[in-house]
Amino acid sequence: MKNPLIAMTSPALDTLFTWIRTESPTHDVAGVNLMMDLVVSQMEGAPVAIERIPGEEGLGDALILRAGPQTDEPAILIMSHLDTVHPVGTIQHDLPLRIEGDRLYGPGVYDMKASAWFTLEAFKEVARKGTAARPLIYLVTPDEEIGSPMTRPIIEDLARRSAYVLVTEPSRDGGQIVTARKGVGRFDVHVEGRPAHAGSRHAEGRNAVYEAARQILAIEAMTDYARGITTTVGMVSGGTAVNTIPQHCSFPVDLRVETVADGEALTKAILGLKPHNPDFKLTVTGGMNRPPYERTEGTSRLFDHAKSLAAEIGFELVSAPRVGGGSDGNFTAALGVPTLDGLGIDGNGAHTLQEYGVISTIAPRQELMKRLMETLR
Ligand SMILES: [Zn+2]
Repeated sequence: MKNPLIAMTSPALDTLFTWIRTESPTHDVAGVNLMMDLVVSQMEGAPVAIERIPGEEGLGDALILRAGPQTDEPAILIMSHLDTVHPVGTIQHDLPLRIEGDRLYGPGVYDMKASAWFTLEAFKEVARKGTAARPLIYLVTPDEEIGSPMTRPIIEDLARRSAYVLVTEPSRDGGQIVTARKGVGRFDVHVEGRPAHAGSRHAEGRNAVYEAARQILAIEAMTDYARGITTTVGMVSGGTAVNTIPQHCSFPVDLRVETVADGEALTKAILGLKPHNPDFKLTVTGGMNRPPYERTEGTSRLFDHAKSLAAEIGFELVSAPRVGGGSDGNFTAALGVPTLDGLGIDGNGAHTLQEYGVISTIAPRQELMKRLMETLR
């Protein structure tokens, strides 16, 4: 089979490869800002107004790109993030940039550099042709992978002034897009016990790791698949030496819920955890980070429209069942703005060393993004 990427012009190919070679984990300000520079240069010569918002608190910059009719009517907001979860150096050995058949491998290719790249190409084309259906606002963010602490207010502010939101997170299993996502909560639990020598003064110690283990059992037991509730303790740290009863132990908790009510109930349960013994001190902080993204009537209509455009282009657009991963689309959907997510490239292995995008899905998805920008009245 002819390699579909070869069919693209070589300058375009070079740009995407440069993007993937530019490693940009969230906390690598230099890398993330280089990505923002690449976006700015991609827009060169196009009628696009660029606003660059300096990063705060160890994060890279954000970009707001504006094109299309400069009127006050509610805009089409498009959102991409250019940070990844892969540390610098991943591309050297663990996940080298390479093409295997229809798969393009590399750090962040699927989540979400290829998608941001082709959507920006579509945006630029619509800007050049002057065919936008409404004002277009393209927000490019540096901090999605850590929950968007810096850009959440910007996202919400722009969403309030928009009629539609399009998010370029990767599509799922065979190209399904996303119209509902679980809400995400994050908590930190800290247990303080009493240190003691493990040999000579065992009875005087209060083992913080032991108490943490009991708390973890309680937290994991809150998982309820039937209600779509999951709790995960994915990391634990505690203790200082093998022969010392540990004074401290702490761990984060990941919570996923389908409804706002469950988010509130589980938040209360987790924040309300009590030590099993008064000699331990338990401190729990955190709360819901991303509210659940529920499929509304507006989002259903937006999906139907996108589905008919896809049919014109020649592919079937399918909506995935509610997905567990949160995204910036949760923030905009929670404000009641019709939101389509998962409009990005098909592929698999997000956040792993097997991450790849399916090359042949770039062209039809790019066309879909372009048609959405041109037709969302
Ligand atoms: Zn992502």
